[in-house]
Amino acid sequence: MARIGFIGLGNMGVPMAANLVKTGHTVQGFDLVPDNVAKAQARGVSAAVSASDAVKGIDVVITMLPAGKDTLAVWGGGILKAATPGTLFIDSSTIDVASAKAAHGLAAEAHMFSLDAPVSGGVGGAEAATLTFMCGGATDAFERAKPILESMGKRVVHCGEAGAGQAAKICNNMILGISMIGVCEAFVLAEKLGLSHQALYDVASTSSGQCWAITSYCPVPGPVPAAPSNNGYKAGFASALMLKDLKLAQEAASAAGGTTPLGAAAAQIYAMHNAWGEGATDFSGIIHLIRGKGR
Ligand code: NAD
Repeated sequence: MARIGFIGLGNMGVPMAANLVKTGHTVQGFDLVPDNVAKAQARGVSAAVSASDAVKGIDVVITMLPAGKDTLAVWGGGILKAATPGTLFIDSSTIDVASAKAAHGLAAEAHMFSLDAPVSGGVGGAEAATLTFMCGGATDAFERAKPILESMGKRVVHCGEAGAGQAAKICNNMILGISMIGVCEAFVLAEKLGLSHQALYDVASTSSGQCWAITSYCPVPGPVPAAPSNNGYKAGFASALMLKDLKLAQEAASAAGGTTPLGAAAAQIYAMHNAWGEGATDFSGIIHLIRGKGR
């Protein structure tokens, strides 16, 4: 069993750290917010007094932070000096590809192993230990990380070299953002044509229009009982996080010369939805904007 330093004990970090404890690992955690550290402590994580304190005497560091600037600030802020050379550094935050590559560079300079390993599955997946990890980095780092990530997830995929995990994450979520808007447009058109939600679901969920946004996350109440649409569009996956990921996809496309007109349109539509005060609600609630009516 590994000794793990966990930095960033927010909505995702606390349940992820708790699942590491459940599977027998020793976890010492740190967050800037003392209340968040206390939540992790209540689930078996020992409290560190600083990020550098969290990485003393450990084998693996996991960071779960808001954005690329935070990962670079934490990795570049002393923990690479405080940890023993050869320690494995895993960043599971969703961040831009350029920052992910820069973080790998910092780790290499300090003679550490490193992996970018963002997740999909949300807070529910973090609680249930059913996350999917998309990993970028050298094969030896991946092989070392895999059994640890398996304590927190059900799928661990090696996507390629440094940054490839973040690239997979933002490409996947760009598909999701675009497809959710497409599904919402179809359900709202069905309403205008007098076609019931259930009838459209029954056809599209088993026909060529089938996609995850219909079968697992249907944006109208009824057809998929577990979908946030049946729970007042309580997140779920918050619209603010969808907008964040769509913006990351646009930044990456612009840097790489990619052509993503639908990704750009989806980012604009989610920006409008967020500006209307819907950032904290589930991203499938975009159906209200498509319908042109508030909730
Ligand atoms: P969160 O805001 O709840 O947690 C982030 C935590 O990092 C906070 O507790 C904050 O205090 C802490 N933090 C920030 N800077 C720090 C520093 N310098 N040192 C120590 N702690 C610091 O966010 P979250 O929902 O847990 O998401 C974390 C990451 O996972 C994000 O990159 C997000 O995009 C990604 N993600 C979230 C979800 C989701 O459904 N919430 C799903 C997939 C991916």
